[in-house]
Amino acid sequence: MTTLQKLAIDGGTPVRTKPFPEWPIHNEVEEQLILEVVRSGKWGGTGRIMLPRIEEQFAAAHDAKYAVSIVNGTVAITIALQAAGVQPGDEVIMPPYTFIATASSALLFGAIPVFVDVEADTLLLDPDKVEAAITPKTKAIIAVHIGGAPANLTRLKAIAAKHNLRLIEDSAQAVGAQWNGTGVGAQGDFGTFSFQSSKNINSGEGGMILTNDERLADMAWSLTNVGRIRNGGWYQHEHIGWNLRMTEFQAAILIGQMTRLVEQMAARERNGKRLTELLSQIEGIQVLRRDPGITRHAYHLYMFKLDPVWADRIDKNEVIQRLVAEGIPAAPGYVSLNTNKAVLSETKKWTGEDRFYSCPISERACEKEVLWLHQNMLLGDATDIDDIAEAVSKVMRSYR
Ligand SMILES: *Cc1c(COP(=O)(O)O)cnc(C)c1O
Repeated sequence: MTTLQKLAIDGGTPVRTKPFPEWPIHNEVEEQLILEVVRSGKWGGTGRIMLPRIEEQFAAAHDAKYAVSIVNGTVAITIALQAAGVQPGDEVIMPPYTFIATASSALLFGAIPVFVDVEADTLLLDPDKVEAAITPKTKAIIAVHIGGAPANLTRLKAIAAKHNLRLIEDSAQAVGAQWNGTGVGAQGDFGTFSFQSSKNINSGEGGMILTNDERLADMAWSLTNVGRIRNGGWYQHEHIGWNLRMTEFQAAILIGQMTRLVEQMAARERNGKRLTELLSQIEGIQVLRRDPGITRHAYHLYMFKLDPVWADRIDKNEVIQRLVAEGIPAAPGYVSLNTNKAVLSETKKWTGEDRFYSCPISERACEKEVLWLHQNMLLGDATDIDDIAEAVSKVMRSYR
């Protein structure tokens, strides 16, 4: 039996003082590409050099036919919804365990988020609960691949097809992930991505929309290019759209970042697997279930849970403070969106009514159970992973 070690928070020796790998990672590849853009004098507008390169490459990396680049991952969802035909007042089913952008992207133009709870053991949208939430106003489902784990696209696609709904994949956290051997993003009608600074592929800010449908791609392109049409005239605006284009600087950085994607994904998978093996042996900890359909996990976040019995007895935030003191920067994660006052009051503004969504699994996950580790922590070596597991074990032993 291991002896009880004094916690770092109480003045004991921390498990670790070494920092985890820094983020972002860059070198002369990005420097050279940026220099090329500066010297070209072609920084934005039309006739791009870097932009078509990254669009083509990003689509291919996700087995998609069409890519439309955009300023960020939030409006990427808005444009995907609009291009898919979602109108103000239409309902969009989505999980509450996600970043606020999933909901605010719909509310931006009066589409109404309808929250359907997640599965307790995956934290992903529960297909069993989706059908019960469909009404005559439902137009779309947003599957969020949270933490980099693809939601069950097989079942969600079947439900969307059965009810004639559009399926959008919010893949902001899932660059490079695969469901049943195919890239996420174009398995639904649209997939959207974010290149905000914390994301696995990062250009400071930025986003991408993928689809396999040429008509949908053209519409998304038009809406992000002031309503112009591809190969149309400069002042030929056939839709109301906006200038949502990214710059050549962003496209150049993305091309550089993509050169490390395969290698970084392999490291996260390897380290994620090791961490899962180690954490699953610790009393009081539950690891998430990985569906066999997830043939590649993007691990934007490594998420794990306190066992339900323990979660009722001990304080998640205190566990996090203890881990941080041990040198492990764990984080508590989201507040469940179905309880967010801004989301509810904006919903009321558009619908004129108070809406209530019962999502006990997501709420409990947020308040009591789920802990996060960020993606960069999985980019080091096996000793980093062993330190994380040792610190979790030490902290959990302190509650015995
Ligand atoms: C980051 C993120 C977004 C929004 O992306 P931005 O580029 O920050 O606008 C949307 N959905 C999820 C799940 C995200 O994590």
